[in-house]
Amino acid sequence: METIRNFVANEPVDAAGGGFLDNVEPATGKVYSRLPDSDERDVDRTVAAAEAAFPAWSSTPVEERSRILLRIADLLERDLDKLALAESVDGGKPLARARTAEIPRAVKNFRFFGTAIVHFSSESHATDRDAINYTLRRPRGVVGCISPWNLPLYLLTWKVAPAIAAGNTAVAKPSELTPMTASLLGDICTEAGLPPGVLNIVHGLGSKAGAALTKHPRVGTVTFTGGTVTGAEIARAAAPLFKKISLELGGKNPNIVFADADMDRAVPGSVQAAFANQGQICLCGSRIFVERRAYDAFVDRFVAATRKLRIGDPLEDGTDQGAVVSRGHFDKVMSYIALAREDGGEILTGGGPPARMPDRCRDGFFIEPTVITGLDSTCRVNQEEIFGPVVTVVPFEDEDEVLEYANGTPYGLSASVWTENLARAHRLADGIESGTVWINCWLLRDLRVPFGGMKHSGVGREGGEEALRFFTEPKNVCIRYARES
Ligand code: NDP
Repeated sequence: METIRNFVANEPVDAAGGGFLDNVEPATGKVYSRLPDSDERDVDRTVAAAEAAFPAWSSTPVEERSRILLRIADLLERDLDKLALAESVDGGKPLARARTAEIPRAVKNFRFFGTAIVHFSSESHATDRDAINYTLRRPRGVVGCISPWNLPLYLLTWKVAPAIAAGNTAVAKPSELTPMTASLLGDICTEAGLPPGVLNIVHGLGSKAGAALTKHPRVGTVTFTGGTVTGAEIARAAAPLFKKISLELGGKNPNIVFADADMDRAVPGSVQAAFANQGQICLCGSRIFVERRAYDAFVDRFVAATRKLRIGDPLEDGTDQGAVVSRGHFDKVMSYIALAREDGGEILTGGGPPARMPDRCRDGFFIEPTVITGLDSTCRVNQEEIFGPVVTVVPFEDEDEVLEYANGTPYGLSASVWTENLARAHRLADGIESGTVWINCWLLRDLRVPFGGMKHSGVGREGGEEALRFFTEPKNVCIRYARES
């Protein structure tokens, strides 16, 4: 069985306590590797390695940092097939998705920030004709990067790449459920010539290793992507130490379809938004609202398209839907389906594990894509993040009503609106409380744009300049040049 190790100053290291956690393949339900059960001693050691590397790395010329990041991108690309396979086995996602979407995005993250840092500039403000202000932007030191299991390498590199591009050193804590590709990234960084200690990876439980990292007094910056409840814990731990934090949290995103929408785009777009990665993307459109006069026709087409999704072994070509990430998560998603039934919801398709699966996947965590109607927009199923292949469809009469539904949860991460009416699209984009609004599309990403959530979906923005600003400390210098009067 493969053993994953912590990555400290470019060396593989076991946990100080010597313990390991089992790593389960979601498609089979079987343990296939193990990872270190790290605690605060390991976090301490890892932070010390990052601290030791900081002075040299933060004064390494930008062109040199850029060159190394671009080399990491090239090596990730070279190993794309290997990484995609590892990600699929580790997380239960279709291999094709890992190969065509997620690992390529990890490559892009390094390439983007490896390039962006060369173009990064700071501000200057002339104060009348008396003085000039300029802003220095310095790396902040050791950054803690905590990432979730749903898009493991994609989200870890979304944090690590800008952090180290800006001259910080990093300690990353991947989810204990999906540690494999982070571990492969460590080897790639060594091969690319990243100096020891610039990126360190500590594996283990969130409640132990993750909590030790966020509380660590010498980790002044924490970037976190994960659930809203964990985000609140991190904010609580960080506040008394005045850490700079960025929180990318959960969502319960509305997907709004007007009767005038181009249904040939809205239907497949909504299916994609509902079920990509088994619905385990923070941006998934899990609440579909359809204008009443188009409701029946939309539901028919949407259910028909959902039934065409092929659920199966994630490693097989042609599989659209793989397994959800763990037994615990399977139980959570199923409990929401049960709740929907109790609340009088009608399950139009799906509703549980598939009747037949290949032998290899008999004990895997599979749930059919599930479409539910007949629920009120205020019930728990429509308010709480399920984060699985479950979507509800609710009719609406007009723009005002749907805006109320869209904004009627504590979340505010993203939204999609499907309409051919330009003015309405702009009105909705203005009125919806979320960090991103997509019109006639979903998950169309440009890495330059600000990315993050409003309300309980997060604090701060990452992406492009926002990320480079987050990972640097601005210091204003004011020079008076006016003659004494
Ligand atoms: P969790 O919040 O459970 O975990 C996220 C990470 O935090 C994991 O590495 C976890 O470790 C770690 N962690 C858990 N507890 C603590 C703690 N007390 N202190 C420090 N770290 C801790 O989220 P999930 O992994 O379940 O991911 C799913 C969630 O992530 C969903 O809510 C989803 O919406 C959100 N998400 C948000 C995105 C965004 O951009 N806004 C993007 C993608 C996902 P371990 O897993 O080992 O316990």
